[in-house]
Amino acid sequence: MEAAIGVIGGSGLYAMPGLTEVREVRVTTPFGDPSDAFITGRLHGRRMVFLPRHGVGHRILPHEINFRANLWGFKHLGVERLISVSAVGSMKESIAPGHLVLADQFIDRTRRRVQTFYGDGIVVHVPFAEPICPAVRSALYAARTAVDTPVHAQGTYICIDGPQFSTKAESLLYRSWGVDVIGMTNMPEAKLAREAEICYATIALATDYDCWHESEESVTVEAVLRTLKANVERAQRLIDGFVQNAPAERSCGLCATAARTSLMSDPAKIPEATKQRLQPILRHFMPV
Ligand SMILES: [Zn+2]
Repeated sequence: MEAAIGVIGGSGLYAMPGLTEVREVRVTTPFGDPSDAFITGRLHGRRMVFLPRHGVGHRILPHEINFRANLWGFKHLGVERLISVSAVGSMKESIAPGHLVLADQFIDRTRRRVQTFYGDGIVVHVPFAEPICPAVRSALYAARTAVDTPVHAQGTYICIDGPQFSTKAESLLYRSWGVDVIGMTNMPEAKLAREAEICYATIALATDYDCWHESEESVTVEAVLRTLKANVERAQRLIDGFVQNAPAERSCGLCATAARTSLMSDPAKIPEATKQRLQPILRHFMPV
């Protein structure tokens, strides 16, 4: 199968304009249903796969997202590089609403989400010190001339469960930890991408200053949506620039072999049912 570039759209990004040869593909997975049908097509000649993370019509809360089904689906459809688009709150004065942040680190404060594809007879401990694909992130940064707003080359994204926004005490605590942006969806998405040997990078769209900022009104859905609309268009332009210049083959040495080099289990001892469930991942490095 021809390798594809995936895009998972967050709040405000429910479709991928500019695609040709558009098809809707429903994928059934051993982990249940993905957020919606996948949209496949071509952009600048490249095979693309798009999924709206919250479903068309925005029906799925962050903690309700079936992250494993989504990532399994992308892997099944041949996605090797996945760009995550996510609305976030800014935790620093220097990241104004309207700015884009190419996060390079995460702090995971989610508590009730399934964090792994593995278990049930297979043990894998992937490295996660660098949770974002450095090659995809730097290529996105190189495409920043396509947008009319500052693009921050790095940042730490703290992920909370939500769906409520933070209290002021929480917001101030997170600021004391030095985080740059706050969101609800990139964990465990980025972990599962690494486990599936998919390159993953995030475009975080700063929509507001969360509630720590004294001179700003506390975050409201209305304010978020206003900035979001402009930001989503910027994210689309950045992705377009990335796709235009992306090399045909991914080049990073980190993500493409992350699971196979971290496998602790004897392949002969892995239960058949487990192998079958993980077939889109395992088939690249063991007989399944
Ligand atoms: Zn990579």
